[in-house]
Amino acid sequence: MDRPRILVIGSSNTDLTVRLPRLPSPGETVLGGQLMTAAGGKGANQAVAAARAGGEVTFLGRVGRDAYGAAALDGLRAEGIDVGRVVVDDEAPSGVALIFVGAEGENMIAVAGGANERLTPADLDAARGCFAQADVVLLQLETPLAAVEHAVRLAAEEGVRVILNPAPAQPLPDDLLAGVAVLTPNEHELALLSGRKVADETALADAARALRDGGARAVVVTLGDRGVWLASDDADSLVPTQPVAAVDTVGAGDAFNGALAVAISEGRPLADAVRFANAAAAVSVTRHGAQPSAPTREEIERQLA
Ligand code: ADP
Repeated sequence: MDRPRILVIGSSNTDLTVRLPRLPSPGETVLGGQLMTAAGGKGANQAVAAARAGGEVTFLGRVGRDAYGAAALDGLRAEGIDVGRVVVDDEAPSGVALIFVGAEGENMIAVAGGANERLTPADLDAARGCFAQADVVLLQLETPLAAVEHAVRLAAEEGVRVILNPAPAQPLPDDLLAGVAVLTPNEHELALLSGRKVADETALADAARALRDGGARAVVVTLGDRGVWLASDDADSLVPTQPVAAVDTVGAGDAFNGALAVAISEGRPLADAVRFANAAAAVSVTRHGAQPSAPTREEIERQLA
């Protein structure tokens, strides 16, 4: 079988993490930090997760003309991801996240989106052929909404299904959801998008249904170690995940979305695709980091067995 083609449109960042004896207060300098540099950004993370899960992945986004951008693209290429349509921005720097982590794991994060914030509808028009070739388009919300909306439009014109991971949480225009085949909020994003509190399973089901009424064809709510709530034409049910010894849940949602895109584009029924994605995310939380922790196809299948 040909590998399914996934077009991931979104952000690419470099995460600069400093582990410190404690977090600084405003105006204070804390010495004794240790620096770790890692590739990040939800778009790039999900592209890597999809490639490892078995997809033939094209990544579309913007980086700056600088060393961080070049390293980020090298990292994606090393995963076999096509980055030939990524726009290199001459004016804005590559996206960077500055992360401080204290002794107890508490953190402070500042993101400078840089080139990510300058992705335009015209950038996507220039890569229109990628839409025509894709089985699934996978989107998040770390690039401008105008670009996300345009991506949904182009996907509709080409008859390609869209998965939208609405993270980080932000209100969406009414007509956007109508172009989304599968919406994948976590509980916090679900509450914001539906305007409802999600205190128990009934409320969860109601909120997911509200987003379907708003136009999303299916809603997959990720619930951490409880798995997901699946709301579609065929199901309104909890899909539990297998318990694992979690060490780091950063990037769990990205591993989930990348794997989900692959499984859906392979034509699996949504409930099966969700089980595959749960397994991928379960493996990812047993390891540190976002991109490094995304599992290979073989590891996902072993987890499912
Ligand atoms: P996000 O990281 O976007 O907030 P979640 O915390 O809901 O998303 O996690 C996404 C998915 O990752 C979950 O639906 C589940 O499949 C998996 N996951 C997260 N935490 C755990 C855990 N402790 N054990 C097993 N799977 C987990």
